Amino acid sequence: MKNIFIGGAWPYANNSLHIGHLAALLPGDILARYFRKNGNPVFYVSGSDCHGTPITVRANKLGVDAKAIASHYDAEFSKNFADLDFSYDLYTNTMTEFHDETVKKYLKQIASRGYFYEKTEKEDYCEHCGKYVSDREIKGTCPICGNIADGDQCDKCLTALTPDMLKDKVCKACGNPTVLKDNTHLYFKLSQCDKHVGKLFEKYKDNWRPTAINETAKYLKEGLRDRAITRSLNWGVKLPFDGFEDKRVYVWIEAVMGYLSAGEQAMTAKGVDFNQFMHDKNTVSYYVHGKDNIVFHTIILPALLGAIDETLTMPERIISCEYVNMGGDKMSKSKGNLITVNTLLANFDSDSIRYYFCLNNPEKRDSSFDLDDYVSIHNKHLVGGYGNFVNRNLSFLAKKFEGKLPELKLDAEVKAEVEKTYKQIGELLQKGEIKEATTRLYDYVQYANKYYDTNEPWVLAKTDLEKFNAVTSNCIYLMANMANLYEPIMPRRARTVSELLGFELNKFAPVVYDASKTVANVPLLFTRLDPEQIDMTLGTKDTFNA
Ligand SMILES: [Zn+2]
Ligand SMILES: [Zn+2]
Repeated sequence: MKNIFIGGAWPYANNSLHIGHLAALLPGDILARYFRKNGNPVFYVSGSDCHGTPITVRANKLGVDAKAIASHYDAEFSKNFADLDFSYDLYTNTMTEFHDETVKKYLKQIASRGYFYEKTEKEDYCEHCGKYVSDREIKGTCPICGNIADGDQCDKCLTALTPDMLKDKVCKACGNPTVLKDNTHLYFKLSQCDKHVGKLFEKYKDNWRPTAINETAKYLKEGLRDRAITRSLNWGVKLPFDGFEDKRVYVWIEAVMGYLSAGEQAMTAKGVDFNQFMHDKNTVSYYVHGKDNIVFHTIILPALLGAIDETLTMPERIISCEYVNMGGDKMSKSKGNLITVNTLLANFDSDSIRYYFCLNNPEKRDSSFDLDDYVSIHNKHLVGGYGNFVNRNLSFLAKKFEGKLPELKLDAEVKAEVEKTYKQIGELLQKGEIKEATTRLYDYVQYANKYYDTNEPWVLAKTDLEKFNAVTSNCIYLMANMANLYEPIMPRRARTVSELLGFELNKFAPVVYDASKTVANVPLLFTRLDPEQIDMTLGTKDTFNA
């Protein structure tokens, strides 16, 4: 049995989560639930990425503490994930003391192995504010159109800029001219990690999705370049080295180390030795994220892990997703077509949301979110398929037979169908093919409903009671296994059905219901959605109020 480590990407704590985040992160929870059920030792971790310039820029603008913004979104993310039944072993954030200490420990280890060096360059400095100012903190004259532009881009002519291209630069905060001043940064020798990263790429890439393969190959071909690991900021993890007191660790290296800090914290809490688990040849790691995050997991992370210790478990399964669009349009805050997780949760049930985003997961190409499509899938697959199968069987038993479950007389064909489904779904999930597994499971639901329709138990109840009991017992058997197979995707309904029928949800293998049970009250498994009652404008507003 393999040990499974699953790292879900760390959302940036500066805005609410939207459906793109959900689609990219949900596969992590399906995998975690599947592997636990399969009996594998599993650690599934993530957290909020709380440091970095976008948060400080916003905090300065609003006149609040960067920590207030990061804490607000961190709490919101935690609640969103809990409401969506994500089963993280640990969801933490990068502001914890444990993360801080872990980052410092590994930075010292990387330094002792000779992977860092100092480099001094001229940078923009504001003497009035007494600090170095980043590209987003300065403005000046655009060399192309002559308008006032920011240090990274001119909003008038849309040219991408670097601060040295601007004329008459001033500090945005105080309006005073900036001067160039020597600044010393620490750099990571990423260029020396190309062999290690390239070897891993060749070893594991056949299991990755096309975009992950292409992006990684492109980076490796261009050649890896050294990267600064320090920034002139006062928000973030401090450097554990002398001479860098006015700087903080750059988020790209610090947030990626979150997998190590969260992993160690989660394992220690359960009495598992982190070093042993992450050095075990039997451990397989899955990293789950959107396509804009691929190179952090296929290049940066393995490079850092290699610089720390080449014998650590390296990223093996890269579960990267494409984007979710709105109609044919890219989703963005400025277009006002962004659907947040808050909006979804205000309108829909967690199982329904999870089902939709598994069935429409943008695994290999962009998907498109459409409300009519959502309503139609919910009503057809969940109300008309899964829900109807459960409700029509159990309601009939409750009405005509006091809810007494019949003894199981398992049909060889039904037995074979159930066994085949477990095998296929297990294989698909291990490969991270959530969309295909969800599609295949709906075939199983249709098989069950067809079995019911073909055998007409409502007729047999009047003509042949023995045959009625046999057919119904096969339907209840199909139902119990439907709930068990669906549990990684829809955990709430699985619990409801397992309690009604008296079976355990603790294995990914055929289950048998408890025939001594009586099902008197049958709850409606899913309710039909009415488009009139859905308000997609709920919760689209920014939730941080200064
Ligand atoms: Zn200034
Ligand atoms: Zn311009």
